[in-house]
Amino acid sequence: MHKQIKDKIESYPKIIIHRHVRPDPDALGSQLGLKKILQDTYPEKTVLAAGDDDEAFRFLGTMDDVDDDDYRGALVIINDTANLERVDDERYEKGGALIKIDHHPVVDEYGDIQWVETHSSSTSEMIYVLAAQNAGWKLSEEAARLLYAGIIGDTGRFLFPSTTERTFEAASALIKYDFDRSAMYDELYKTSLKLARLKGYILQNVTVSDEGHAAIPLSKEVLERFEVDPSETSQFVGMLGDIEGILSWVFFLEEESEIRVRFRSKGPVINKLAGEYRGGGHPMAAGARAESWEETKRIEEQLQSICREYRKENG
Ligand code: AMP
Repeated sequence: MHKQIKDKIESYPKIIIHRHVRPDPDALGSQLGLKKILQDTYPEKTVLAAGDDDEAFRFLGTMDDVDDDDYRGALVIINDTANLERVDDERYEKGGALIKIDHHPVVDEYGDIQWVETHSSSTSEMIYVLAAQNAGWKLSEEAARLLYAGIIGDTGRFLFPSTTERTFEAASALIKYDFDRSAMYDELYKTSLKLARLKGYILQNVTVSDEGHAAIPLSKEVLERFEVDPSETSQFVGMLGDIEGILSWVFFLEEESEIRVRFRSKGPVINKLAGEYRGGGHPMAAGARAESWEETKRIEEQLQSICREYRKENG
């Protein structure tokens, strides 16, 4: 697989790398990390990163201006994206060939080459392995910083069970490069006062059922009161996991025309439920979309019964 990907990359003069909408550190780290590796290894090639810039992650880098014409005869690589609907942006179809590199359970099968490793902590870990195993590929300090940020982001600082021996091996190799880890952590984990206040509101209002589930509805009105955009909540979706008795939880975030649903779990598998509501993701971290508050009630009831079943089976 690694050789196939390398051969494909070597046979195209232009490479455009995409990732999913509303990027997280892994989406950006794997996209920009791969871009840097390819630029340094193949200086004669044009390598571009496509998608919208994300203000919160500007410290990881910015996207390129990619013209429609750039796609002519280009190899397109999509990182960290299980379903085509979530690719930022949709011009990925205009290239000459397509490679998928991802660690999410498969939703859409796409690409001339599909490299999917669901046991990998992150797509950034996969890109590190690809670079380490392809002789001659150049991994700079900047590429190491980006891939490390992606691994940190998707493992919750090596906390999630997706963290494996290979993750630590990758991290151990990456920190040998000279980049400022503390500065990166500061950027990744800094919290604005308004987000800290919204966290306070959530902790004040959360209730935990006997089954071990919790649901947090954040209406437009509440988000406006705290002046928080739904996309800014990424920083704290995991926060309820520390509360005693909580097995799985869900945030409902009211956006313009739908309600974004973000699931997290410490045991019960929740990505199947996400799949029933226009979503998907990992067994312990998934997302979906609800069309109304009535629908969120149904989702919450289903989550409650998933937790009940889990308790029955696991004591
Ligand atoms: P998030 O809550 O946005 O951090 O998402 C958690 C996980 O679920 C990530 O791996 C996402 O890729 C995945 N995910 C989130 N929303 C969706 C969606 N609408 N469809 C498929 N996967 C999703």
